[in-house]
Amino acid sequence: MNTAGSTDGSFQLPEEIVEICDLAKRIVQKELMPLEQEFLLHPGHAFGIKETTNLRRVFGDDITEHLIKISKDTGLWHLMVPEEHGGSGLSMLAQVAILEQFNYTAVPFPFANVGNILYQCKGDQIDRFLTPVIEGDMTTCFAQTEPNAGSDPGGMMQTNAVKDGDHWVLNGTKMWISGAAESDMIMVQAVTDVEKRQRGGITMFMVTKDNPGMQVEEPGIKTWLGPHASQYIVNFDNCRVPEADVLGEVGNGFRLAQRWLTIHDRLLRGPFALGKMQRALDLSIDWAKQRVTFGKPLAARQAIQWQIVDMFIDLQALRALTYQMAARADAGEDIRTEAGMVKLTSMIWGARTLDQAIQIHGAMGESLELPLTLFYRYLRHGQIGGGANEIQRMLIARKLLRD
Ligand SMILES: Cc1cc2nc3c(=O)[nH]c(=O)nc-3n(C[C@H](O)[C@H](O)[C@H](O)COP(=O)(O)OP(=O)(O)OC[C@H]3O[C@@H](n4cnc5c(N)ncnc54)[C@H](O)[C@@H]3O)c2cc1C
Repeated sequence: MNTAGSTDGSFQLPEEIVEICDLAKRIVQKELMPLEQEFLLHPGHAFGIKETTNLRRVFGDDITEHLIKISKDTGLWHLMVPEEHGGSGLSMLAQVAILEQFNYTAVPFPFANVGNILYQCKGDQIDRFLTPVIEGDMTTCFAQTEPNAGSDPGGMMQTNAVKDGDHWVLNGTKMWISGAAESDMIMVQAVTDVEKRQRGGITMFMVTKDNPGMQVEEPGIKTWLGPHASQYIVNFDNCRVPEADVLGEVGNGFRLAQRWLTIHDRLLRGPFALGKMQRALDLSIDWAKQRVTFGKPLAARQAIQWQIVDMFIDLQALRALTYQMAARADAGEDIRTEAGMVKLTSMIWGARTLDQAIQIHGAMGESLELPLTLFYRYLRHGQIGGGANEIQRMLIARKLLRD
């Protein structure tokens, strides 16, 4: 492996990955950063919806199409799509390093946003579900959580599906579903065997938006993550789903969900935090050099220097951990537990880095013209969403104590 280059000297990356990271950095500086102020101050942006939906709401069609074109022309659109589905074939390490660059700004860059559950599509599901999502013509979201089933979905899930001829009939309520109102179809888990539950008794269904048995409650649940609500309650009332719309095998839905969460909600939280932490560090260094109090710049004060040093150490340590785990995933290792370590540390270290950056900036840190508070909220949220800190610790402890 040619390890001549690296993005910042903290981790040796192959030259070809560094080149794509440089391309990503140029796009961020030239195309996205000039849009950031407008994005941050716009009442339409939301957390947890697809990048293209967010862009269209804030900037309209012209800018969104312009960014999609850049993404498709450069091949970045297919960054996370496997080669056998027309994707880039880039390693997980490359994906992580490139995504880090795009997380330097609050303005989302459009990618083909395909939950890996969809690669289970077979037969005509490929044309109906997978291909339109890869091409960006349709969007999906993921429905696991319920009013009484968050950390323990396998044990507590109530939504159930019963076979009736060549259909399944779903009943129950999902809650906190990001992008449910904005998506064309929803990947829903339901209990199909109460005895087996997460061990072969939960199935994944694709339910399309036009299904009369599914109702998304609007306007959604308001949170501190964005001015526009984007998490929803979704009700299933005798919702009839053709058996042809089961994703994967009957009874295998919980395993598919866990596999998806390992990559999307655990490992990829690493670059999600890294870009934001790098930005917080850069902004803090600039601010500390120019802001003068009591006759000296903040950068001359040891109390400020130490905060900046701590931010730098968190960033470098997280980068080393994340890149290493991505490389181990590329080597075919089972990194389920390690991905949990990346999620836990990226969200805790990320939030504390942003907290320090806000403190160094004083009042400016609280201004919505800077991305600091938004980044802080995103990273603090990550200590709950997608499996809270305690659940990651529980999974890591299980492995440590078992081994
Ligand atoms: C903004 C947002 C977006 C979301 N998007 C989605 C989505 O798109 N799809 C989806 O399915 N879900 C989504 N969720 C739900 C999210 O994944 C859950 O909220 C999360 O898993 C935690 O579940 P809970 O809120 O029910 O917490 P609970 O399970 O009620 O837990 C409460 C607290 O107790 C802790 N705890 C629980 N059990 C233990 C234990 N055994 N030992 C020690 N501590 C414990 C937890 O870690 C947590 O801190 C979203 C949530 C939010 C806020």
